Amino acid sequence: MRNHCAFCQRSANEVPLLIPGPEAYICSDCVERAHEILNEYSKSAAAEDKQREQIELPKPQEIKAYLDEYVIGQEEAKKFLSVAVYNHYKRLNQNKDDIDIEKSNVIIVGPTGTGKTLLAKTIARLLKMPFAIVDATVLTEAGYVGEDIESLLVRLLAACDYDVKEAERGIVFIDEIDKIARKSDNPSITRDVSGEGVQQGLLKLLEGSVVNVPPQGGRKHPEQRMIAVDTKNILFICGGAFEGIERKIALRLNTHVVGYGSGKHITKMDQERLMHFVAPQDLRAYGLIPEIIGRLPVVTNLEPLDREALKRILTEPKNAIVKQYTKLLEMDGVKFEIDEEALDYVVDKAIEYKLGARGLRSLFETIMVDVMYEVPTAHDDVYRLTRDFAKQQLDKSNFDLLNSGRAK
Ligand code: ADP
Repeated sequence: MRNHCAFCQRSANEVPLLIPGPEAYICSDCVERAHEILNEYSKSAAAEDKQREQIELPKPQEIKAYLDEYVIGQEEAKKFLSVAVYNHYKRLNQNKDDIDIEKSNVIIVGPTGTGKTLLAKTIARLLKMPFAIVDATVLTEAGYVGEDIESLLVRLLAACDYDVKEAERGIVFIDEIDKIARKSDNPSITRDVSGEGVQQGLLKLLEGSVVNVPPQGGRKHPEQRMIAVDTKNILFICGGAFEGIERKIALRLNTHVVGYGSGKHITKMDQERLMHFVAPQDLRAYGLIPEIIGRLPVVTNLEPLDREALKRILTEPKNAIVKQYTKLLEMDGVKFEIDEEALDYVVDKAIEYKLGARGLRSLFETIMVDVMYEVPTAHDDVYRLTRDFAKQQLDKSNFDLLNSGRAK
């Protein structure tokens, strides 16, 4: 056996290290090169897997069925989202020279705490796509205090370990889009920092363009290295409460139907029903610029959650609060039972304090803290939560005082 690398033929004094095997030597350089080749190989195999995954994209009805497991009610929004997401990925799979299928970014209008973020998150989990949530209120026009519009792509990049190709097919959920609406009563002597300028910036991303993103986020510096991200295939889902938009809807419907003599009827329509008719024109009247609205072709709305829906949220979703507590207690060998009246009580309190679905968890945590503290050392087989106990715990915790500010 000669003292040289069997791969590159260099001898011991030409290489950093020569590693002997039973029949031959290999040098450390060739080992490293082989390692690189292996890495390349596994990367391309992963890319092929991804390609295959794309083809097996779930159908709209399957997406909807998955959403049903986590999100209560909101049938219309679920259907719209399922179709939009399905079309979006069909678009990604299509041949380049085919008909150009346009992107179907979505805007969800609905009161806070009714499931906008939950819907977006659940979809992202199903599709295993990079997903980022950004609050539109922190975005400002370049040059002002706040975050540059590009920062929302930084979050997306961070969600997939700065794999640009992955990020370019991801989903961004922009919350509180209504907060960057142009304020019509705002005299335009000074620039509307949080309004139109931000919308203009956002437009660039929604339309699809190559955006230079500072890798660490924050402000751009001239000397900073930038990552170029093409937003052409990123799906944007926007959400906002658009408080008071029903007045715009009423106004539009009224003028529209007045000639048919049914104006009075429409004016009397309650807020909830009006929201069903939300249309792009109303978003414009609210202060979104027409170009933005044009880039958000799918408009859907979420309904306020009534008592029945809140109760279902406590028990039905796959990760419902009651199911989580059942699991926690089960791990201590305790069976968790809960009285119907106790559930009703929690729902009543969530409504009373205007906490909505978001408050259900904090109510439950407050009620259960003593139980969770004591159960692991007590040796009971069953724990049953009653209305009286729930009430006693909330009274004791001064929950009403802590949350009274919101009830107004
Ligand atoms: P928003 O509409 O303000 O984005 P979220 O989606 O963040 O509201 O909802 C807050 C929390 O309330 C969720 O994490 C979830 O626990 C619960 N929730 C709200 N709406 C629903 C719903 N329709 N079904 C199930 N849980 C819901």
